[in-house]
Amino acid sequence: MATIDPKAPVMVTGATGYVAGWLVKTLLDRGHTVHAAVRDPGNAKKRAHLDAMAEAAPGEIRYFAADLLTEGAYAEAMKGCELVFHTASPFTSEVKDPQKELVEPAQLGTRNVLEEANRTESVRRVVVTSSCAAVYGDNIDMRETPNGIFDEAVWNTSSSLAHQPYSYSKTVAEQEAWKIAEAQGRWDLVVLNPALVMGPGTNPFGTSESFALLRQFGDGTFKIGAPAYGMGVVDVRDLAEAHYRAGFTPEANGRNIIVGHNTDIREMATLLRERFGDRYPLPKRSLPKWVVWLVGPMKNKLLTRKVVNRNIGLPWKGDNAKGVRELGLSYRPLDVTLVEMFEQMAETGGFDKAKA
Ligand code: NAP
Repeated sequence: MATIDPKAPVMVTGATGYVAGWLVKTLLDRGHTVHAAVRDPGNAKKRAHLDAMAEAAPGEIRYFAADLLTEGAYAEAMKGCELVFHTASPFTSEVKDPQKELVEPAQLGTRNVLEEANRTESVRRVVVTSSCAAVYGDNIDMRETPNGIFDEAVWNTSSSLAHQPYSYSKTVAEQEAWKIAEAQGRWDLVVLNPALVMGPGTNPFGTSESFALLRQFGDGTFKIGAPAYGMGVVDVRDLAEAHYRAGFTPEANGRNIIVGHNTDIREMATLLRERFGDRYPLPKRSLPKWVVWLVGPMKNKLLTRKVVNRNIGLPWKGDNAKGVRELGLSYRPLDVTLVEMFEQMAETGGFDKAKA
């Protein structure tokens, strides 16, 4: 149990990211000093939205250069901090070498940040942004769960470098975090396991895979039909609140599944079609599993036949009760999240660029 002094600076790794953006805003709006660890603090364009937030808020932001793979890189940023949010980890499907591009930054990066916490006397709590991807690999895994639902007791045992490598990277990174946390006694570890994150970005030009997924609704990728791909979704603003509470609630502990809605691509498409169907090529029907099996791998290299077999047509259910009970979390309606993100992408030309 850790009580954090609100006057001490709070460190956020990967502060330029989509998820971190709203967390940094929440911290600044509530008057905290944020030590923003970013790869390239000299890149004014990548920081512009953070600078604008800080300008308008009572809190203060200070930038520190740090790369996940450089040992000791987080020392300066962590100095004097009691609370560390570790959000940085690559979330992309555009990888050639999953070991180098996903697993190393996720796992070695987590080791690097948490070992720095071991060396930094002021640190009392580390909140790691893991993922539901560390809970499950494929929807079919739900059949093997003790309670027929993905909850905090479940670990992903089905992903590997060859199959669902991003999920594998998040699993080994979270395991690394627990190993380091359990070997010491000064700081406690709180892990968040968010489902797919959606909702408008503080930077509308984000590169997170969340943007890539939403883009496919507007750019015609799903025009012929939406696959019955079950998943959980959480609003990025609700996730920021979950981070904040995980940091500042003394009793926060363990893993916490953060999901607002158990849904699937078809339901998401239907909600968006009600609002934007007259202007965008949103799918009108569900795509049969055999069609996804046949054409999926040609359209999207992540949609391998194995992924199709183990996910399409299978429900996804995540249990958010612990976060609701212990952190007092509540979740926005799914249509609000999707519509506001779609509107932002439409206004900023996100769909045009995809077509170009
Ligand atoms: P994002 O926008 O791509 O953010 C990733 C962040 O990690 C960026 O700030 C990026 O820095 C940083 N990063 C990547 N490689 C790095 C390296 N080698 N050294 C230092 N920083 C590095 O993705 P996101 O969606 O916000 O994801 C943030 C976290 O949430 C990740 O841990 C992800 O696994 C987790 N998560 C995301 C979702 C989702 O649906 N989006 C769901 C569950 C969990 P640059 O800006 O310099 O590239």
